[in-house]
Amino acid sequence: MPTPTSHLKHTSPQVNGSSPTKLRMIDSHAHLDFPEFDIDREQVFDAMRSAGIESAIIPGVSPEHWDNQIAVARQFNCPYALGIHPWYCHSDSLTLFDDLKERVSRCCDDVKLVAIGECGLDKLRKSNWQAQLIQFERQLTLAKELELPIILHVVKAHNEMLTLLKRYALPKGGVIHGFYGGVELANEYIRLGYKLGIGGLILNDRALKLKNCIASISLDSILIETDSPSMAPENSAETRNTPLVLHSVVKEIANLQKKTSVLISEHAFLNAAQLFDL
Ligand SMILES: [Zn+2]
Repeated sequence: MPTPTSHLKHTSPQVNGSSPTKLRMIDSHAHLDFPEFDIDREQVFDAMRSAGIESAIIPGVSPEHWDNQIAVARQFNCPYALGIHPWYCHSDSLTLFDDLKERVSRCCDDVKLVAIGECGLDKLRKSNWQAQLIQFERQLTLAKELELPIILHVVKAHNEMLTLLKRYALPKGGVIHGFYGGVELANEYIRLGYKLGIGGLILNDRALKLKNCIASISLDSILIETDSPSMAPENSAETRNTPLVLHSVVKEIANLQKKTSVLISEHAFLNAAQLFDL
């Protein structure tokens, strides 16, 4: 059985052949280790792969999650990241960060460990803001030392984020996951070498600023993601999001860019493969 990784490296889309064209996609941000998927994880992966979604990158959120996260990633042959999400920066203690360093060093020979994250800054969580800043700067240092890309969660803290990204100048850059801003902000991140993770928010009819932004930015800067099980599209009957939503995300980006879904999915696929060295 070829692994999804070898599959990623050796297949090419049938754009010109006689076989029907099928999109190929990677969900660049999906928490498929979360308990919402415990009852039917295998079926979800089967459905993804039947739909051309070859893999998903599983981000880390906290020490309590890492064991199960890595087990799920290994079981389903998914790339993964390790990090401390801002919501889980319960303290600024060095012990919490040392846990991360120790776990990363244990996994550093694992080719499936592809990034540090998700980590970042979230101003809607004011109670732990100082701890967020301290733990985030430590994770920036770690990503820089290990020359790994970083998966960023940024909510209402773009000024602080841009300042830190300029200061740390990570060699591999990373992705602003769940990007929701306008074109000016998008271009600031792109100039620093970051990509934008575009997900279900783009399906919201009121997300006009985001839609305008996506209509005009370079396709080389786009990744596609779902943040499953969170972020189910507003019009969905499901409360649990799944990577299958990627088809609608690609279709909407294609509409906005006035390009085909094949072109969009192929760009996003190759962007993810390049950023995370898949
Ligand atoms: Zn996430």
